[in-house]
Amino acid sequence: MLKKILAVSLAASLTAPAALASELVVYTARAEHLVKPIVEKYEQKTGTKVKLIVDRNAGALMERLRAEGSNTPADVLLVVDGGNLWQAVQMDLLRPVDSNVLKTNIPYHLRDPENKWFGLSVRARTIFYNPEKVKPAELSTYADLADPKWKGRLCLRDAASVYTKSLVATMIANLGETETQRILEGWKNNLAVNTFPKDDDVLKAIDAGRCDVGITNTYYYGRMLDKNPALKVKPFFANQQEHGTHVNVSGGGITKHSRNPAEARKFLEWLSGSEAQNLFVDENREYPANPKIAPHGTIAAWGKFKQDIINVSVAGSNQKKAIMLMNKVGYDKAPSK
Ligand code: FE
Repeated sequence: MLKKILAVSLAASLTAPAALASELVVYTARAEHLVKPIVEKYEQKTGTKVKLIVDRNAGALMERLRAEGSNTPADVLLVVDGGNLWQAVQMDLLRPVDSNVLKTNIPYHLRDPENKWFGLSVRARTIFYNPEKVKPAELSTYADLADPKWKGRLCLRDAASVYTKSLVATMIANLGETETQRILEGWKNNLAVNTFPKDDDVLKAIDAGRCDVGITNTYYYGRMLDKNPALKVKPFFANQQEHGTHVNVSGGGITKHSRNPAEARKFLEWLSGSEAQNLFVDENREYPANPKIAPHGTIAAWGKFKQDIINVSVAGSNQKKAIMLMNKVGYDKAPSK
C-alpha cells in the first residue's frame, strides 16, 4: 500500500514541472474585472497559469506588441471592436489558428476570414428611445433617423469613437458611399445637441428628455438599467426588415510570436464554449458570440433580434472611408438654431 502511495506521489511530482511550465501571457484591452474571473476559472480547471497584462488603450497595447516583436511574452491578444482586430491583422500581430472548435462555435461573420481572430462576445449597436416621446412603431432603421421628422430629436456618439466608425463603415458596405453620406447629413441635421464623447451620455440625454432617440451599444444600457430600473429609455432593434442590427465584437487571437500557441489555442477554444461564454459576457451585459449559448437575465428580456451578418472585419477595411464621410458632413456639430 505504502509503495503504491509513494509511486503515485512520485508520478505526480514528476508531472508537476510540466504542468507548471504551461503559462500563458494575455495582453488585454478589456477591463481587468471582466477578464480576471474567467482567467481564474481557467487556471483552476487546467492548472495553466495565465498572466494578464492590461492596457485599456487598444492602440497603445497593439503598438507595444509590435515594438516587442519576437521578444514579446504575449501569447494572446484580447481587444474590443472589429476595427481594432482588423488593425491587429494589418499590423501583422496575429497568426492564423486552425481550430474546428473555434470555427464551429463562432459564426463566420464574427471572425477574421483568415482565422487570425475570433469574436468572443457580441455587442449590438442599436436605437434607443424615450418611451414617453416615441412609439416603437415610429422606429425602423438607422437610415430613418435621417428623416426630417426627427429634427432636433436625435442624440449621437461622436465621430472619434471606434463604435461610430464601425457602424458607418458597415453602412458604407451595405448601402454604398452616396447613400451613407445622405444618411449622415440627415443625422447631423437632426441632432438635438452636439455629439457626445460617451455612449452613457447619449442614454442619459434620452432619459433626461434632451433628445428622443439615439444610437448606442446595448451593454451601456444594460449596466445603466441595473443601477436605475426606472430609466426612461427602451431599446429598439434596428433594421430587422433589412440587413439586421449592426453588431460588433470583443475578440482575440494568438500572437504571431507566441511561444505557446497550442496552449493559447486551447484557451481561446475554451472561451468560445459553453462553460466560459456566459461568464465572459454576463458581467458586461453583452451577448454570447456562440449562437448555441442563450444570453442570460436582463439582456435576454430585450428579446431576440436578427444580426447583420456582414463580416465585422468590414469595420476596419472601410474605416478610412467612414472617417472621410463624417468629416465631410461635419458629423459632430448640431446645426445652429
Ligand atoms: Fe464600450
